[in-house]
Amino acid sequence: MSEITLDPYVSRYATRARGMGASEIRALFAVASRPEVVSLAGGMPYTAALDYDAVAEVTDAVVREHGPSALQYGGGQGMPALRARLVEVMAAEETAAHPDDVVVTTGGQQALDLLGKLFCDPGDIVLAEGPSYVGALGAFSAYQARVLHVDMDADGLIPEAVEDRLTQVRAAGRTVKFLYTVPTHQNPAGVSLSVTRRLALAELARRHDLLVVEDNPYGLLDFKGEVRPSLRSLAPEHVVYVGTLSKIFSPGIRVGWLSAPGPIRDKLVLLKETADLCQSNLTQFVAERWLGTQPWQAQVAAFRELYRERCEAMLSEMAAELPSSCTWSVPTGGFFVWLRLPPALDAGEMLAKAIRARVAYVPGSAFHADGQGTGEVRLSFCLPPPERIREGVRRLAEVLREEVELVEAVYRGRG
Ligand code: PMP
Repeated sequence: MSEITLDPYVSRYATRARGMGASEIRALFAVASRPEVVSLAGGMPYTAALDYDAVAEVTDAVVREHGPSALQYGGGQGMPALRARLVEVMAAEETAAHPDDVVVTTGGQQALDLLGKLFCDPGDIVLAEGPSYVGALGAFSAYQARVLHVDMDADGLIPEAVEDRLTQVRAAGRTVKFLYTVPTHQNPAGVSLSVTRRLALAELARRHDLLVVEDNPYGLLDFKGEVRPSLRSLAPEHVVYVGTLSKIFSPGIRVGWLSAPGPIRDKLVLLKETADLCQSNLTQFVAERWLGTQPWQAQVAAFRELYRERCEAMLSEMAAELPSSCTWSVPTGGFFVWLRLPPALDAGEMLAKAIRARVAYVPGSAFHADGQGTGEVRLSFCLPPPERIREGVRRLAEVLREEVELVEAVYRGRG
């Protein structure tokens, strides 16, 4: 059978959908999900650590006590009692919010989609860290926004680089619709924005009237429990905050939220209603009761410790095994390590070989809108247990050693 299938509906698709297609990487991941492969690729939380008796109790009580409402439609903004609980989650990160400013969404991902829909016409410019969360790049590009990357380093996004980009864009007579950033335990780079830079970015947002989208799924998963000031707390009128219960409770219940300045919130509620009328009422009730009756902060602390241990397993094995010409980020929380490969290696080209060696990762180019990142790799330590992580790193190290030898042989051959 031919590899290429012509799509007979293509002429009917909207322009924004024509360019969309599954990447080669997605095809490789079908193979990577086999049990013999250690996947350091996905960003799936370790949901097996949840207390399932407690989840069952909560769900049972919701259905028995609130069945008719929980199985009914709800309001477009989300259930008021849940919004009040989500404000408590934000308070755990010292970010003040009011339930009226919150819009419940189908995970953080829908929040990003709604923001793309609200702000982006085709060709509009959005700034984002380079590398950036692949789901955000997908959401914004679905509205044909053009993402321009801004440099980051071990302390996160560089405010001066944001200002340079803004100045360039404005000098060209264009506007920046917003800056998208994951300031804490960034996906994929595994770094956090320093406090000094948070203050600088907040000041810059005010001075340049820049709108910032702050996406914060990993903030509470700091290995030491450290809390950093959110951008929303520093410049509330210039920041739209995106939160999610996916990493601190469950991604399966699909509860995320936005906390936004009033006029933006009003538009988002209308967009949410056109997207799906309302969030699943059943999972809103479950999330509300979970947060209201269970020791969720203790669960978060348990997750923190579990991920800290897995991260430590990954970092120590990397230090022991990887070629000395590799460098990587040292996360203080979250799910990811960002690995820079030895010169001349291409992470995309190497992936098929890695999967044959029974280890999977995501090539860095997936996290760039402009083809950068070919010599970089995202490794996740969230799902496999520590011993599997170590095994995965050893397999990756073996592939890298072979690749480095090949490159050296080619250079020697050239004399
Ligand atoms: N933002 C970032 C940075 C993420 O890593 C993720 C999950 N991978 C999301 C948003 C979306 O997660 P969810 O839709 O499950 O809330």
